[in-house]
Order: sequence, then structure tokens, then C-alpha cells
Amino acid sequence: MSNRFTLKLFFGLSLFVAAMLGVGAWRHQDDLGAFALSLIAVASLGYLLFKDKDSPVFLDVWRPILQDKVQFYKELTVGEKMVFEHRIALFLSTIEVTGVDFEMDDECRVLVAASSVIPFWDLPQWEYGRLQEVLVYSGNFDENYRVGEDSRILGMVGSGGHMDRVMLLSKKALYYGFDNKTNKSHVGFHEFAHLLDKSDGEVDGIPELFLPKEKVNPWTKLVHKEMQKIRENESDIDPYGATSDSEFFAVISEYYFKRPHLLERKHADLFKMLQLIYHPQNLA
Ligand SMILES: [Zn+2]
Repeated sequence: MSNRFTLKLFFGLSLFVAAMLGVGAWRHQDDLGAFALSLIAVASLGYLLFKDKDSPVFLDVWRPILQDKVQFYKELTVGEKMVFEHRIALFLSTIEVTGVDFEMDDECRVLVAASSVIPFWDLPQWEYGRLQEVLVYSGNFDENYRVGEDSRILGMVGSGGHMDRVMLLSKKALYYGFDNKTNKSHVGFHEFAHLLDKSDGEVDGIPELFLPKEKVNPWTKLVHKEMQKIRENESDIDPYGATSDSEFFAVISEYYFKRPHLLERKHADLFKMLQLIYHPQNLA
């Protein structure tokens, strides 16, 4: 980053000096003009050479992956697809996606990026907080980060210190989220919902930066009512949502993005609140 800034500064200054010399040459009619012209040429060439490095590049090989695996992308217009691709490129140019126990490939990388783009499609101001790296395990893992048949953790966002900068995901669960179109589960949406929740400093199930102040109390009440229903076995929401307010927010976000129409039909109040959080401009 600082290198790019230095380069821009250098080319900017070169252009400025060249312009000044050009004015001098015009006034005094000496051969400073030639020097000024060369300087302009060098600065412009440099700008052309380096400007492209500033904008993230979407690789053509990523497009068939989106087309094949990501329903949300498939349903976009041509123009929207371009925006989507730009955001994928932006994500992958700023956040590292690493395979912990397998060799990372384009498909997995693109699916991680798509998991970040879809939930926040209508939140252009959204950035990924302090996130710097997504660590992907080949399968589900346990508290000691061991992958195994009995391991139950599908994903995780940490809190405090180094953990603020990483997200952990199970590749198996990530793919399942995209491949199964009818269930209400998606670990990618789940973990990025936790990040959204965390954007106000706390993972507490209340994304305060995205919820009007007067809606915080109604939201909390609604959440507790729905959690109670889960505990009483009277809900179709994943029981994991009843473990805490923050898990409820992540679980209901998965449901909202995977099965919006079903959620609207079965839980109209929750649906409205989530519209408010994730699609604020629709309600203006
Ligand atoms: Zn969670």
C-alpha cells in the first residue's frame, strides 16, 4: 500500500514539475519545454503501468464457479453480476483465504468470497472489520482445531487480539451451504453475520450500527420470544439459535438468506426486522 502511495506521489509530483517547467518554457521560449514533455511522458507511462494494480482483478476462471454454484449470482442482471464480480475481486485482494490442511483452490476461495458478498449485497458501506484471513479446514473441527468425523464446529469468528483478524470455516460445511438449496443452513452466511453483529464492538446479537435505535428493544424482545419457542420445540428455526442471542442472530440470518420466502411466511416479524438490517434502503 505505502509503495503504491509513494509511486502515485512520485508520478503526481513529476506531472506537477513538468507542468511548471512547461509554463516556464512557454514564457522564456527555451528548451526546458523538451524536458517538460519527456517528464510528462514518463509520468503518464508510469501512471498507466501502475494504475491497474490498484483495482482488484476478477479472474475469468472464477466466473463458471459462480455460475455453477452460486444461485444468488445466477439470478442477477448482467450489470449486477459485474458489481458482484468486482466485490469478489475486492474481497480476495484484501483478505487471505488459506487452506489449513489441504491445498487451497479457486473454487473454495471464490465460495468464501461469495459468502461475504451475498449477505451484505445491499450494505455498500460494509467492510469486513479487522478481518485479514479466512482459515479453511477440510472438514468440521473441534475445540483443538482437529478435523474429524466427530468434530462438530463448522465455523468460528474469534474475539480479541489475533483472533479478531481471522475467521475459521469448514470447507465441507461451506460447500454444503451452497449445494443444498432447500435447507436453512449456510456456515458462510452464519460467520459473516457474526462479523456484522461485531461491527459495533460486541457480538451480542444486536447489530446496533444496522438497526435503528428505537428498534433495539423490539428486536431483543422478539428474539427472546423466538428462542423460547425453540426451547419448547415449537419452532422450525435451528435449535442452535437458542444457545445465545448472538447465535440466534447468526442462525436466523442463514435462514433469511437461504429461504427468505419461507421465513416471511412463517416468521413475518423476524423477516421484517431482518429486512431493516440487511436491506435498509427498501424501507425508506
Ligand atoms: Zn455462531
